[in-house]
Parts: sequence; C-alpha cells; structure tokens
Amino acid sequence: MERIDCVVIGAGVVGLACARALAQAGRDVIVLEAATAIGTETSSRNSEVIHAGIYYPQDSRKALSCVRGKALLYDYLASRGIAHRRCGKLIVATEEAQLPVLETLQHKATANGVDDLVFLSAAEVKAREPALASVGALLSPSTGILDSHGLMLSYQGEAEDAGAMLAFDAAVTGGGVEDGGIRLEVGGAAPMTLLAGQVVNAAGLHAPRLASSLEGFPASAVPQAWYCKGSYYTLAGRAPFSHLIYPVPEAAGLGVHLTLDLGGQARFGPDVEWVEGPEELDVDPTRAETFYAAVRRYWPELPDASLLPGYAGIRPKLTPPGAPASDFVIQGTAEHGVAGLVNLFGIESPGLTASLALAEEVAGLLD
Ligand SMILES: Cc1cc2nc3c(=O)[nH]c(=O)nc-3n(C[C@H](O)[C@H](O)[C@H](O)COP(=O)(O)OP(=O)(O)OC[C@H]3O[C@@H](n4cnc5c(N)ncnc54)[C@H](O)[C@@H]3O)c2cc1C
Repeated sequence: MERIDCVVIGAGVVGLACARALAQAGRDVIVLEAATAIGTETSSRNSEVIHAGIYYPQDSRKALSCVRGKALLYDYLASRGIAHRRCGKLIVATEEAQLPVLETLQHKATANGVDDLVFLSAAEVKAREPALASVGALLSPSTGILDSHGLMLSYQGEAEDAGAMLAFDAAVTGGGVEDGGIRLEVGGAAPMTLLAGQVVNAAGLHAPRLASSLEGFPASAVPQAWYCKGSYYTLAGRAPFSHLIYPVPEAAGLGVHLTLDLGGQARFGPDVEWVEGPEELDVDPTRAETFYAAVRRYWPELPDASLLPGYAGIRPKLTPPGAPASDFVIQGTAEHGVAGLVNLFGIESPGLTASLALAEEVAGLLD
C-alpha cells in the first residue's frame, strides 16, 4: 500500500483551491478525481456569480466565507488576469409592499459586513436600467461575474507548480480508518490502494456517500444528502440589462433571476426542483412556462417564446424540502474523531465565491 502525505478527493473549484493551499503550505498533495477533467460537476453548472454575501444568516460560515472569499477572489482574479466583471446586481421591488423587504435585506447585509448596498428610487433604477419595471431597488456594487473555468485552471496550475499531482479517472470507491492514516481504494484507469496521512473529502454531491464508505468512520457524523436541481433557460437574443437582476427573494429561494455571462448572454434561473439523485441533469423545456409571468413582473417586455432550455446544476443540500437551508459544514477531527480527515458537506452557493476562504480554513484545520 503506497503512503501519501495528503489526498484531496474531487477536482471541483473547492477541491482545487484546497489542493493549491495545501501544496503551497508544503504538503505532498495528490488530487483524485473520478472524471477525466477538472470541474465537470457543480463547479461548471452554476451562475458564475461572485456573490456579495447579502442573504446568509449573520456569523454563519456561508456569510463569513462569502465575504472573505469575495475579497480574496477579486484580488486573485485581478492579479492572475482571469476574466471577471464587477457588474453589480439590482434586487428589484415591483410592489410597494416589497420595499420593507429591501430594507431588511440591507440590514442583514450590513450585519454580514456588506456595507456598500445602495437604495435606488424607481427613477434612479430607470436611469440605470431603462427596461426594468420597479418601485425601487437595492444596488449591490460588489456583486460580479467571472470565468469559473479560468479560475479552476489557475488553481490547478498553481497547485501543480507547488508540487501537487492530479489523477483523473481515479474514483475513490471506499476505504477505512487505519492506524497511521486513512486507506483509500481507488478505482478507474489505474486501481490502487493508498494510505493517506491526511484526506480532504471535497467530493461535492458525493461527499456524504464517500464518508459513509470509509470503514471506521462514525455513521452518526454523516449528514443525509438531499439534491435540489436548478434549471437555467437562456434568452434568445440580447438582454437590455448591464446588471444582474434579482426579484425580492421568495420563501423558497431567490426567485427567477437574470444573470449574465462575460459574453453578455443572459439566462434565467436556477429554479428549484427536488430530485432523487445527482445524475438528474436534464432540462425540461416545459418548466420555462412558469418563468414568463415571474420575469415580466420586472421586465414586461420579455418576448414570447424567448426562453430556451440551457443547463442544470444540483445543489448539495443537507436539509429536506421546506426546511431552512443548512450552513456549509467543514468537519474536522474535533467533530468526527478521525485524525487527518476533513469532510466538506453541503457546499452549495456561494461555494464558488468562497472557494479561497474555504481552502484557507481547510488548510488551517490540517496544519
Ligand atoms: C445551480 C447552482 C448555481 C450556483 N451558482 C453559484 C454562483 O453563482 N456563485 C457561487 O459562488 N456559487 C454558486 N454555486 C455553488 C458552487 O457551484 C459550488 O459551491 C461549487 O461549485 C462546489 O464545488 P466543489 O468542488 O465542492 O464540488 P464539485 O464541483 O461538485 O466537485 C466535486 C468533484 O468531486 C468529484 N468526485 C465525486 N466523487 C468522487 C469520488 N468518489 N472520487 C473522486 N472524485 C470524486 C466529482 O467528479 C467532482 O469533480 C451554485 C451551485 C448550483 C448548484
């Protein structure tokens, strides 16, 4: 059995950020990735938004890692020349009754350290976005968009420069807690057994199942996984907006919002659909029908038949439908009792924004 200092399981944006941080801290790192390329799961099926940190409960790991991660990320993107744009986001009230919600959101944001939100009157919104119908909006100037694949390639490159190795087609199929390390059974192209001194389980949607497959890992420490799909519908033609546009949030999510990619292409979504497993990625064209009325509340001119099926991503949830969203879980020895193992559970949005901050925390736990 080959002995390895440190294994990161999963080459999504969070696993790659962790591999980079650990390799730069002097560890010998191997990244084991089941797929044949980096970032083929949730990390390439999201909105590519740099979130400001507005909605999360105060002092939650989501709030703290989003706000810190955003600052680290903007510096990182600028210094590496990775494409991004601080385009800003408008949270739009379309009825007077929603204005107090904007005020509550502004307080919440301030409590999270996001103190740059600006309330705009209907006229000020019109001046910035003439096609938008509103009675007022909150402008979040620090929200932006990025090239997430460029980011992952950069994390990979810097991890490799610091000595990390990536193995593709290398799914971890099981293992166990042993004296002196964690045994990992690796399948795929070159099956092998490794004994790792340290393991970061960054397997995204599969992280709970992976933790369960380690003999000797306490079953009580593995959360139940729930899967919540979000489908996107692409706008045919150009959108008349330069900001990201979000309605006032609804009970079950952020509402049908518009995000832009760096090429200016607009898409609406993601919506909320609970599914049985991580493989259910088809986009049902008929679900777009429910989008038109919701979008026309803030963009009355949305043309008929303009929404085309795009792609879908699945949120790795730790609470069932109807329950409040859980926080990110970063589980180390203090929580589960196994030396050298860190599990990352429930890393849904804003995990892309928070990736550098999460990696810092993981590296700190393994220091
Ligand atoms: C619809 C949607 C929209 C989102 N929008 C945003 C956004 O705009 N901004 C933002 O900040 N965040 C957003 N997120 C969240 C963000 O995309 C995730 O937090 C982030 O991509 C998670 O990265 P990860 O590395 O943890 O997981 P993943 O990207 O899922 O990577 C996990 C990797 O582990 C590999 N793997 C799994 N099992 C094994 C195994 N047994 N052995 C080896 N490898 C394995 C997988 O192949 C995969 O490559 C969104 C998420 C969703 C679902």
